[in-house]
Amino acid sequence: MKKHNFSAGPSILDESVIRDAAGAVLNYQGTGLSILEVSHRAKEFSATMEEARNLMKELLDVPEGYEVLFLGGGASLQFAQVPMNLLKKKAAYVDSGTWANKAAKEAKAFGEVITFSSKEDNYIWYPKPWEKNEVPDDIDYLHITTNNTVYGTELRYDPDVKVRLVGDMSSDIFTRPVDVSKYDLIYGGAQKNIAPAGVTFVIVRRDAVGHIEDNRIIPTMLKYDVHFKDSMYNTPPVFPVYVALQTMKWYKELGGVKVLEQMNLEKAGMLYDEIDRNRLFRGTVNAEDRSIMNVCFVLNDEYKELEQEFYDFAVSRGAYSFKGHRSVGGFRASLYNALPKSSVQFFIDLMKEFERKH
Ligand SMILES: *Cc1c(COP(=O)(O)O)cnc(C)c1O
Repeated sequence: MKKHNFSAGPSILDESVIRDAAGAVLNYQGTGLSILEVSHRAKEFSATMEEARNLMKELLDVPEGYEVLFLGGGASLQFAQVPMNLLKKKAAYVDSGTWANKAAKEAKAFGEVITFSSKEDNYIWYPKPWEKNEVPDDIDYLHITTNNTVYGTELRYDPDVKVRLVGDMSSDIFTRPVDVSKYDLIYGGAQKNIAPAGVTFVIVRRDAVGHIEDNRIIPTMLKYDVHFKDSMYNTPPVFPVYVALQTMKWYKELGGVKVLEQMNLEKAGMLYDEIDRNRLFRGTVNAEDRSIMNVCFVLNDEYKELEQEFYDFAVSRGAYSFKGHRSVGGFRASLYNALPKSSVQFFIDLMKEFERKH
């Protein structure tokens, strides 16, 4: 039975990318070696790394003066590495969800942290302090998490602020054009929209880092500029970087981030329309902040007892990994770039069929 993969992460990759990766595991670019066993210093792989860095720049229209890095440690290590390298005295964090909250917590080890939070409302809306002129001038940076993977809210534009801006884009990178020039640093785990688990992307303005050494000693591996030259200061995650490159090539073939954005708006629009129409279900977050990547919904109160039944029904038809995060409950369908429209239609049909049954 075909599986429709709604996993929040690690998540669906395009079938063409997986086939290519499978080929490279057996014979990497005609070398007679597996990608799993080649030297990262071999010319084939250094070319792959360079191409991946360049293609990320091209697809996101990254201006001069920025470096693209592919590192280890996940977005969670960036929660610490960012303040370690950028936080002298004080930073502000938009506490828009579980991951944002974790990022803010880590930063507290390095300085004062103020937050703009919707936690008290269970994160059903996205705090936008810049709209009310509430972002202080005397902070080292403002940190935002553009897409709230767990609760399903999203900021779908790049805010104008006078201070340095840092963005965790783990779950919405490559889903819309981004004005990278507004940010000093963008990072994310690649396992949501680019690659298998194991690689973290960082887009960093060269002159934003390297100013903190008087405050603290930074371990070599955690200095961004150590990785500037070729993103190979140490052994990089060779296989995930290779797969990331294949995904980005596929994005380019499709027409780039503008086309991806249209596809995503259409897919999310279809599913939200059904959630709003179907008398059994309702969305869980404020409509204007709805994520187009992670669609969260529950059964209406009067149908609550049907939750397990709907889950089992959808699983039996081939839906995979659409349970709400354990901190939210209900359901979460993640509609990452590689999820085809047909899988969204499949899920909508399930919801309709379930409604007819009840
Ligand atoms: C998944 C996720 C993370 C955590 O990523 P890891 O690579 O597992 O550390 C951080 N931020 C956001 C927004 C995420 O979706």
